[in-house]
Amino acid sequence: MLDFLGPRTLDAAMPATPAWPPSSLPRLFVDQSLAQDQTITLEGAPAHYLGAVLRLGAGAQLKLFDDRTGEWLAEVAEAGKRRVTICLRENLRARETVPDLWLLFAPIKRGRIDWLVEKATELGAARLVPVMTRRTVVERLNLERLRAHAVEAAEQCERTALPDLSRAEKLETVLRNWPAGRTLLVADEGGGIPIAEAVSPGPAAILIGPEGGFTEEERAAIAAVPQARSVSLGPRILRADTAAIAALSIWMAQAGDWDRHDRVRIENK
Ligand code: SAM
Repeated sequence: MLDFLGPRTLDAAMPATPAWPPSSLPRLFVDQSLAQDQTITLEGAPAHYLGAVLRLGAGAQLKLFDDRTGEWLAEVAEAGKRRVTICLRENLRARETVPDLWLLFAPIKRGRIDWLVEKATELGAARLVPVMTRRTVVERLNLERLRAHAVEAAEQCERTALPDLSRAEKLETVLRNWPAGRTLLVADEGGGIPIAEAVSPGPAAILIGPEGGFTEEERAAIAAVPQARSVSLGPRILRADTAAIAALSIWMAQAGDWDRHDRVRIENK
């Protein structure tokens, strides 16, 4: 029937081997250590999501990860609206090692800080550190809500390692205790080395200031840290969340893991 098609188009016409497991399977983080042939019971929001929202029934497959042992193929044994029992079938991937990059950021208003945490998780940041600076407008942070955004982003972007979200620290405390072996790239709209020239392999951190910018005293305190380098993200004044995403992306492309495509290997299994 298809012999008039050339070999390549024939391949294109032939249905490709479906990926296994299908990347469309529901994927959830569970905060308990998972193991082969283990049976776990989920209640509360995850059970509601699987049982009532996705209406998964017995036999349905899903992926779980625990930020400890990696990602697992699992199967629903029993499903109710409030309780779902699941059997672990196969360890699909080990917990990944994300690049050793921290994002330090002056908290910004709700909504945008949620977005920032979501994007930083997708981009591969290993640790997220809210840093209180003189011109930081947000006083209180809801870490639980931010963690929920990081978990949801990790579920969606197929991370197997959650970013470490630490409690807010004062800038002066962070600078005083700065680890010797970690480069600190400080995004400064007042000027610095073009970031692409400042990125080098090895443990690093990116510091993004508040909407009001750093004060002169803060700039002097930053300059006193031997590992600190002021970097520029170009001639325009970016909003703090834009600056964070831009800096993370450049670092990940140059010194991170954007040359890796783990998932492709699994799909060719
Ligand atoms: N208040 C500052 C001003 O008006 O000059 C702008 C602060 S900016 C909205 C927020 C943060 O984003 C800055 O503290 C800095 O960390 C980062 N940022 C924004 N644009 C930047 C640029 N062109 N180069 C480097 N960092 C930048």
